[in-house]
Amino acid sequence: MPKIQFYRNKCIGCNICYETLPHRWRLSRVDGKSTLVGGVDKKGIYSAQLFPDELDANEFIAQACPVKIIKIVV
Ligand code: SF4
Repeated sequence: MPKIQFYRNKCIGCNICYETLPHRWRLSRVDGKSTLVGGVDKKGIYSAQLFPDELDANEFIAQACPVKIIKIVV
């Protein structure tokens, strides 16, 4: 199953991810950065398994993210 990795510290809160896929990405009201729903934190890198039906949308998000902090590992 593909995985997503998210380097959260460098998020600039541009809104692309959470407007594209709100069940997987949310805006934190605490620090204005995106949050990966279901992500597990390991030293600031959040990772989560991706379901096949959300792979395309997350690949789009990874490419569109202006600071390139989302990686898809298949
Ligand atoms: S697309 Fe990238 S920079 Fe924009 S909110 Fe999402 S993770 Fe942050």
